[in-house]
Amino acid sequence: MRPEILFPLFADVGQLTGIGPRYAKLIEKAAGPQIVDLLWHLPSGLIDRRFSPAVAEAPDGLIATLTVTVLRHEPGRGRAPYRVICADESGEIELVYFHAKGDWLEKLLPQGQQRVISGKVERFRGKAQMPHPDHAVPPTEADSVRIVEPTHPSTDGLHQRILRKAIEGALARLPVLGEWINPTLVQQRQWPAWDVAVRAVHHPQDRLDLEPETLTRQRLAYDEILANQLALALVRARMKKQKGRIIRGDGALRDRLIAGLPFSLTGAQRTALAEIEGDMAAPNRMLRLLQGDVGSGKTLVALMAMANGVECGAQAALMAPTEILARQHFATIEPLARAAGIRCEILTGRDKGKTRGAILGRIAEGTAQIVVGTHALFQEDVEFRDLAVAVIDEQHRFGVHQRMVLGQKGQGVDILVMTATPIPRTLVMTAYGDLDVSRLTEKPPGRQPIDTRVISNDRLMDVIEGVARRMDAGAKVYWVCPLVEESEALDVAAAEERATTLRERFGDRVGLIHGRLKGPAKDAVMASFKDGPIDLLVATTVIEVGVDVPDATVMVIEHAERFGLAQLHQLRGRIGRGDKASTCLLVYAAPLSETGRARLSVMRESEDGFRIAEEDLKLRGAGEVLGTRQSGLPTFRMADAAGHNDLFEVARDDARLLLEKDPELESPRGQAARTLLYLFERDAAVRYLRGA
Ligand code: ADP
Ligand code: MG
Repeated sequence: MRPEILFPLFADVGQLTGIGPRYAKLIEKAAGPQIVDLLWHLPSGLIDRRFSPAVAEAPDGLIATLTVTVLRHEPGRGRAPYRVICADESGEIELVYFHAKGDWLEKLLPQGQQRVISGKVERFRGKAQMPHPDHAVPPTEADSVRIVEPTHPSTDGLHQRILRKAIEGALARLPVLGEWINPTLVQQRQWPAWDVAVRAVHHPQDRLDLEPETLTRQRLAYDEILANQLALALVRARMKKQKGRIIRGDGALRDRLIAGLPFSLTGAQRTALAEIEGDMAAPNRMLRLLQGDVGSGKTLVALMAMANGVECGAQAALMAPTEILARQHFATIEPLARAAGIRCEILTGRDKGKTRGAILGRIAEGTAQIVVGTHALFQEDVEFRDLAVAVIDEQHRFGVHQRMVLGQKGQGVDILVMTATPIPRTLVMTAYGDLDVSRLTEKPPGRQPIDTRVISNDRLMDVIEGVARRMDAGAKVYWVCPLVEESEALDVAAAEERATTLRERFGDRVGLIHGRLKGPAKDAVMASFKDGPIDLLVATTVIEVGVDVPDATVMVIEHAERFGLAQLHQLRGRIGRGDKASTCLLVYAAPLSETGRARLSVMRESEDGFRIAEEDLKLRGAGEVLGTRQSGLPTFRMADAAGHNDLFEVARDDARLLLEKDPELESPRGQAARTLLYLFERDAAVRYLRGA
């Protein structure tokens, strides 16, 4: 349950005085639905209204706050604007209003009275003007105007003044909360208390106050990062508390597996395996992330880890995010495993009725030693005889909680999470701070580098001719269609249209695959691209995950400028998997934005996923990377992975240390930390605590 002290902040923004339903909607759009969202809606600029010259001295184009007397009103005729003529001793100024209501202006600026007005001064034919002053108040209220006024990201129809008012309303509800940060750290960094920091961040006095390095912004970012790390640490502590088991196979199956391979393991694979085997042999549970580029050989490492479990007479499971990927893993693993004498099984949502029953039977009896599948493996009626190792191949698709569910299918199951998204270290920590990390930084030998070229789409005909030549020489080609919008239907339409034009040139050699195809239809298309008559596969981004076609050596990506770097890298990873030279053509529509250009040149220069990920972080700005919900990464409002890079590790250690000393968060600081978790809506994590 959320602590009562936070109730005032977790009410709808419409509860604030002066904010009616219409504004509440707009505020929800700009900042979020709850009052607490307004606290996190930080100013992005400021307007200095302290400058108060005489009218004659007010410079053109600058914001000024003037004290004037209202001389007369001149309502505009026809389309002419409404003018209010004002003056001080030095001269006259016209306040200009378009589409104004006369009676409202007469109340605001009564004739003969003094008013303090603030806005941008302009000169038109030598005459001073101020179009739509931002403020017009009686001199008694001058102090409320002559300030440094923050400006916020807003939305159409929501005036800064209203947004400010709402934020001030939120600040008025600010409770004083206990300190959740390690006091030594607070002292070292000279951070202000939470409420002091929140107030200060909304009242910047200077441009420098808007920078992420300020003490207030650092403190607030740290709060958010700490909440994130604490939530992860709680999950981790809970997982580690469940006793693990010692898995130390005799190596017999692993030796046979290696003997069956036409190559030897890379150094990176060996290191990762040693780390994994070390974890498995320890009495507590393994919680490890195996991070490596597409094609870096993760699957094999996972297979070896699973074989280690099978050697001990237990079972292993590998779970993939999609049907295609599950089948592909199975196709890779099963022949190798069978040759070594390990029995594999596959279970997906497509298995129904008797078939499914039979598979479940073999899983329950333990005759299935390695089980590959989709999230169908999560289902309640799936019972293992003795599951010891769970490998989860995830593309940000499963969350922390799903990892736990699979872990509960056995006694002290060791968990290995694999990701092909080479996310930067900072982000690994925010998404996987609960896991230890192994990285496959080295690619298997014998790979040819991919020749990546950037081409404008006015040369599409040349691209098609180039593709034709490669196809005649026996190449298989991926043709990736643009992201139209966040709409699958539109993506599919674009792909269908492209397939039609390409069929005019290449006839039946063209296939089409997209997310709307049903499973078996998808498999059929993939199969005939892999080993059949289809040589050119038009695809939406469904091919992004998995799918191994070693003969595919050409990839065309249309509107490459619309894809993010990480996505381009994932896509390109589909080619260059065999020993033949590959080419990737990044086709863009001019004009390219500066970031668009930078992104494509990173792609041209590098194939190293880790480097590309770091560049991506720099180019997009961390806020964006951290903030994208669809990526499955946690969202951050105050923290900035670039500006607050150093805080992530500090927070992780701080969180782990706090939980070591106070595992149930019961001390005064622990209690404060609970409040912190609620403040940042990590409620789910609090449920792992006693009495919560
Ligand atoms: P990932 O799962 O990381 O995308 P895979 O495990 O699917 O990568 O490996 C990609 C390809 O590289 C597969 O064809 C695999 O057989 C091959 N491979 C894996 N390890 C090695 C190695 N040490 N030497 C040569 N080829 C390897
Ligand atoms: Mg793989």
